[in-house]
Amino acid sequence: MNRAVIFGDALRTLNIRPTPKYRRRIIVRAQLPFVIIVSIVVLAALAAGVGQNYRDLFLGAWVGLLVITGLALIVPWERDLQVGGLTIPTLDIVAIALMAAAVEPRYPTIGLLILLPVLVLAYAFGWAGFVAAVLGGSLVAALPLIIRNLQPYSIASFLQVAITPINVALLAAGVAFASSIVQRIQRKLEVATAASDNERAVILTVLETMDVGTAFVSETGATAFTNAAFRDVVKRSRVDPVSRAGTRVYATDRVTPVPPEHQMVAQAARGDYFESRLYWVGDGAEQRALLITARPVIGPAGDKIGTAFVSKDVTDLTDAIRAREDFLAGVSHELRTPLTSIIGYLEVIEDSVDAKAIGIDRELGIIQRNSNQLMMRIGDLLNVTDEHISLHRRIVDICPIVKQSVDAIRFRAENAGVSLEVTMCDEFAASVDPGRFAQVLDNLLTNAVKYTPRGGSIRAELSTDATEFTITVTDTGTGISATELRHIFDRFYRSESVRGGGVSGAGLGLAIVQNIVRAHDATIDVESELGVGTTFTVRMPRGV
Ligand code: ADP
Repeated sequence: MNRAVIFGDALRTLNIRPTPKYRRRIIVRAQLPFVIIVSIVVLAALAAGVGQNYRDLFLGAWVGLLVITGLALIVPWERDLQVGGLTIPTLDIVAIALMAAAVEPRYPTIGLLILLPVLVLAYAFGWAGFVAAVLGGSLVAALPLIIRNLQPYSIASFLQVAITPINVALLAAGVAFASSIVQRIQRKLEVATAASDNERAVILTVLETMDVGTAFVSETGATAFTNAAFRDVVKRSRVDPVSRAGTRVYATDRVTPVPPEHQMVAQAARGDYFESRLYWVGDGAEQRALLITARPVIGPAGDKIGTAFVSKDVTDLTDAIRAREDFLAGVSHELRTPLTSIIGYLEVIEDSVDAKAIGIDRELGIIQRNSNQLMMRIGDLLNVTDEHISLHRRIVDICPIVKQSVDAIRFRAENAGVSLEVTMCDEFAASVDPGRFAQVLDNLLTNAVKYTPRGGSIRAELSTDATEFTITVTDTGTGISATELRHIFDRFYRSESVRGGGVSGAGLGLAIVQNIVRAHDATIDVESELGVGTTFTVRMPRGV
């Protein structure tokens, strides 16, 4: 059986380490006070003339106790702490038992001095301590009778002898039991602490290694944790340690400094949390684009204990997007200039030559149509690279614009075998850019026809109220899957099912629609189910 089970876990319970220093400390703190108390009792007893008959035994036991204490100070019993620790209080008990035996049976309470070593034994050495304590109690009760050669002559006198070991046993059992509970709790706590220490070490290492910056600022404003990536952000931002604001923090244009009160720590301190906000930090070639998120950290009791910050370096991505935009804008401009000239000269040819007479009217028509289409595509490209479309808003009656768009698509819908149902208005004044507004309707209606198979139907509806108007375009077409729905407003995105299919498109229409809608402070929503159909809803403020 495990020694710790037999002896109890003395090391753990008494919280001692097996070193000479700890050995001396334990003797000075526990054994010495005990010996001092016993010595006072001994001296008082001697002065009172108690223990005269067995004076040598009495003094011998006392001296024995002093010797035990002296030895306990110098003998390195901590090398076998459990045996050593068990021996000292046991010898203490034997010494007290001898002293109790030496005094007249009139003073049995002197034997109660064993209580301190009994408690130590029972508390620190489990059941071994309990057994030693019970034996010690019995010794204290029996020894006075043995050395006087007396025997209990009645049940009552037997009980009188037995009462001391019984009391000592009960006390020791209670303490041993309490000690076993303490030990169990202690062990559990140690296991839990070790586990949480390990977890903490793993988390800290992972956080430190990540290229995503993380930081935690407590409710008192103290920075409790930052990882290497976040410390780099702080360094680049030249954060002032007092104001916690960076002097090199810029808005999305990369040059406008972000005022301290709009920087992340100040905002979060006001309870203004945010998700993936773009900041530029640092100067020149060292400037980095960061997406910062600030979230409250809620403790187990449900109260806020601080703020967690996460920063993600998106410089490469931002540079790549910018390069793509620049490329698109450059190419579109390069293509538009010669095309404008081609279209211009086509008009000159049309005006100056009788194309029909010389038999090129069909060819000329085709060239003109394709040139115009090419011009429209280039226009789309230019539109899509310009996120901040400049509008020419004015108050117009939007009903005729809607009607025109619907009429324009009607022929195409008929050709595609798709029915078109329209709920229209008579008159409704709103502040819109008429050309851009028509572009939104054209795109949504064209898509509805494009992505609805023959036999399907489209419903366009315009509803108005005092402050806003809503346009919904619903079709019974192919529908869009939930995953693809998230991307349909992305530039150049075309869903899996239409890619490589017969339906033409560049994936730009909805991106332009979204730009226009946003520029009007309006919203566009889409609901769709694969194989069932799609509904686009545009809500625009009336703006008058
Ligand atoms: P495209 O030129 O491809 O039509 P859009 O930007 O207009 O480009 O649309 C993007 C993608 O969204 C389309 O390729 C298509 O997959 C999907 N989509 C748009 N409108 C509809 C619709 N009414 N029904 C089903 N899919 C649609």
